[in-house]
Amino acid sequence: MPSRAAKRQVLLEHVAATFPVGVRLTEREVNERLRAYYEHDWVSLRRYLIDTALLRRADGWYWRPGGGVATQQALVFDADDTLWENNVLFERVIDDFLDWLAHPTLDRAEIRAILDDIERANTVAHGYGSRVFLRSLGECLGRLRERPATAAEEREIEELAVALIERRVELIPGVAETLTELGGRHELLLLTKGDLAEQQRKLDASGLASHFGSVHIVAEKDADVYRWLLAEQDLSPETTWMVGNSPRSDILPARRAGLNAVFIPHQHTWVLEHDELDPADDRVLRLSTFVELRDHF
Ligand SMILES: [Mg+2]
Repeated sequence: MPSRAAKRQVLLEHVAATFPVGVRLTEREVNERLRAYYEHDWVSLRRYLIDTALLRRADGWYWRPGGGVATQQALVFDADDTLWENNVLFERVIDDFLDWLAHPTLDRAEIRAILDDIERANTVAHGYGSRVFLRSLGECLGRLRERPATAAEEREIEELAVALIERRVELIPGVAETLTELGGRHELLLLTKGDLAEQQRKLDASGLASHFGSVHIVAEKDADVYRWLLAEQDLSPETTWMVGNSPRSDILPARRAGLNAVFIPHQHTWVLEHDELDPADDRVLRLSTFVELRDHF
């Protein structure tokens, strides 16, 4: 490392210029790049780059600062329980359903376990959305009563779910402002799964549609869908991020397809969306609130 400051600065600027502007890198990736320049003491080289602000560091990520198009990333957003409340509305209907059932022997947790099983099977056979959910409630009632639900009971269930079917969309705090800010710097896309008409209706009601360059409503979010999205939108996986609350639908399949991911857990995430994340996967950024996206992108 040159001891004279002016010479050192020239070297540092030369090294920094080899980093892509705005692309988040892990410490290991930074180290690999720096060792190619200065095998003896790449740790000092990294420190000089941070001290001179030629590289920035936050939360274990490194990037070369700069403005303009080169910093642009593609941010793909999940919708339900990422942009707006969803599962908590279903939870309220289930609570009402359990009250109405007033089952003489089974407790609420036991009935929930039965309903979860029925929903798991029905999502595979029939997909997602309010209609499938009502069907599951009817089947749950049938299993508990050991006979099919009567027409009157089906009407009762429909009435419990009126709020769900006619609901207004309740945005997660700070979503609209955050999307406005991020949209000035990045390409924003929406990828949501579910019933086509129902998801479109929620998007329309949310007032958020204009933030997204493209909107994709799919039946299921698996790795093939993410690969298809990359190809269809001509996106590079290194600069594309899936942002969502579901380990099973957002984070794990996106990572399998080579995208980066931002995991923003929601306390009311549906049990069918739960899964284990690899804590050592440094391509998953974990945030506790949606507005924190502004600090990273
Ligand atoms: Mg979601």
